[in-house]
Amino acid sequence: MNLKLIPFAALVLLLTISCTGQTAVSTGPTQTPEAAPLLSTATPLQEQATVTLAPTETPIVVSEPTVESLPEIVLPIAVFIVDAEDERFASDRTVEELTAVYDRVNIIWSQANIRLDVQTIESILLPEPITQSIMLGDFNPFFANVGQTFDVPNATLINAFYSKEIGGPNGIVPFRSRVFFVMDDPSVHDERVTSHEIGHILGLHHVLTDAERLMFSGTNGKMLNEEEIGVARYAAQGLLDGVR
Ligand SMILES: [Zn+2]
Repeated sequence: MNLKLIPFAALVLLLTISCTGQTAVSTGPTQTPEAAPLLSTATPLQEQATVTLAPTETPIVVSEPTVESLPEIVLPIAVFIVDAEDERFASDRTVEELTAVYDRVNIIWSQANIRLDVQTIESILLPEPITQSIMLGDFNPFFANVGQTFDVPNATLINAFYSKEIGGPNGIVPFRSRVFFVMDDPSVHDERVTSHEIGHILGLHHVLTDAERLMFSGTNGKMLNEEEIGVARYAAQGLLDGVR
């Protein structure tokens, strides 16, 4: 028997027990995040005692109070300006430019009383095989090589990468990750692209009927409706609590 498997098995057992929601277990020391993928892992916070996971629970609550009366949710985000040997990929953006973009992103997300708290804006060098794959729409080498052929030293809850090109779209969230990429010269407003991708990370999908909405694809629409605000806040709190 491989002895290295034992701690992992114990961790799985522990997680299994803690997710039943039937026992108010004090988990003691914070669990180590070592086994989880770097870029999809929040710093684990202690589970709230009030959270229940009964299968009949309706997860999304569209609340009656106005957004202003809801507590502000602050999401940490790390912003990376991609450098690369491939000139098609290396970004020309500046820290000042991106700082201004996030000021405007926070105006858009204030509709949900969610604020993106920029932890860092810094350059990152991605190896050419990674950038070539991304240009072809394949993000698997990027995730597989984090901590191997390149590092993302200040990664946090949400991680944004700004590249000159990303192979076609203005922005993209690789499937179910907490990472997104945005190109240097998108066809719509910069703050709209970034806010739209954050919307995907917060569980929102595209709307097809109203170009004024943030989640309509390819316009400068910025509106969130009440249901989207509820979903995004629920997802954001789940990210902060380490339960999604
Ligand atoms: Zn989209």
